Amino acid sequence: MAQIRLKNVSKRWPNFVGVDNFDLTVADEEFLVLLGPSGCGKTTTMRMIAGLEEVTEGEIWFDDRLVNRLEPKDRDISMVFQSYGLYPNMTVYENIRFPLKVRKVPAAQHHDLVMKAAQAVELSALLDRRPAALSGGQRQRVALGRAIVRQPRVFLMDEPLSNLDAKLRVSTRAQIKNLQHRLKVTTIYVTHDQIEAMTMADRVVVMNKGVIQQVGTPTDIYDRPANTFVASFIGSPAMNLIEGEINGGVFRAPGVQIAGLSNRVSGAVTLGFRAEDASLVSGNGQLSAEVYSMELLGEATMASFRIGDSLVSVKSAKSYRSEIGDTVHAAVPAGICHLFDHQTGVRID
Ligand code: ATP
Repeated sequence: MAQIRLKNVSKRWPNFVGVDNFDLTVADEEFLVLLGPSGCGKTTTMRMIAGLEEVTEGEIWFDDRLVNRLEPKDRDISMVFQSYGLYPNMTVYENIRFPLKVRKVPAAQHHDLVMKAAQAVELSALLDRRPAALSGGQRQRVALGRAIVRQPRVFLMDEPLSNLDAKLRVSTRAQIKNLQHRLKVTTIYVTHDQIEAMTMADRVVVMNKGVIQQVGTPTDIYDRPANTFVASFIGSPAMNLIEGEINGGVFRAPGVQIAGLSNRVSGAVTLGFRAEDASLVSGNGQLSAEVYSMELLGEATMASFRIGDSLVSVKSAKSYRSEIGDTVHAAVPAGICHLFDHQTGVRID
C-alpha cells in the first residue's frame, strides 16, 4: 500500500560500513526479498526502513513522505521476526488483538478483525491457547496473524521461517506468499535462503558486504547473474565456475575445451554453467574428467568432477551410475555458458 524509495542509503558505525549506498525503489504491492549471506547488511537495511536504526546518510521515502525522522510507530508497518516475539501470558486471541489496542482501533471492530486474521492463518481452533502450548509453526502463524490483523502500509519480515523444520517451512512459505498476494501490502522480506527468495519474491535484491550485487526477478537472477558472487549464491547446486583461458572464442581449462564462445574476450576468464544445462554423454564432449563423487538425489543423479580448483557438477538421469574414478564426458555447449571477468567477477556479455 506504499511505494518505498531508498535513496543512496548508508549505515556506518565508527569502524564498520554495514550498508553502503543502497539505492532502490520498492513498488507498491511488491514482494521484495533481500537475500545474502550472514552479515551482508540485510537486517540493517530492514531496520532502517522500520525506523529501528538511524540512517547515516541518504533518504527513505514512503510514497511522498520522507520518513527518516519518523518514529517506528508512526511509519504504519507490521513486522514479523525470526523470534516470534509473542506475549507469553496472553492467549492467541489476545496476541493477535494486541496491535488493534495499541493503534486504538475502536473496540467494537476487534472481534471481527481478530477472527478474520485467525482464519487467514488457520488458528481459529487455537484462540484460547497460550504460546507455550503451541508448536513452533503455530507460534509463527500467531506472529503472522498479529502482523495482518490490521492492514499496514508495509510488512517487514526478517527470516520468519528460520526456526521451522524443512517441511513446515515449505508450507508456511506458500501461505505467506498467498496472504501477501491477497492483502496486496508492500512487503520486504529478509532471508539468507536462496530457495525462499526464488520461490517468494517478485524481485530479489542480492547483497554482499553491505553492497547491492544485483536486483531482478528470480528468473533474471538465475538466468543472467550479474557477477560470480550472484552466480555462486543462487541455485542448488550453485553455478559451476571454472578458471581458464579464452582465445579465438575457444575456452580451455584442464579437461575442458569449449568452442563457439565470444571472440571479443581473450586471456584469463571465468566460465560458468549450470549443472542441469550440461549433460553426460557417451562419446566425446567438451569436458572429460574423472568422477569425483556421485550423489543420488532421487529425481536425478549428480556427478561431480574436479577441474583445477573447482568442483564441477553435472546433473544426469536418475538411473545414471558410474564409479568414482571413471573417466566420463559431458556436453557443455557454448550456448549454456556464461563468461565473467577473471579479476572483477563481473559478467561479460
Ligand atoms: P544475518 O543474516 O546474520 O542477520 P545480515 O545480513 O542481516 O546478517 P546485519 O545484521 O545487517 O547482517 O549486519 C551487517 C553488518 O553490520 C554485520 O557485519 C554486523 O556485524 C555489523 N553491525 C551490525 N550492528 C552493528 C553495530 N552496532 N556496530 C558495528 N557493526 C554492526
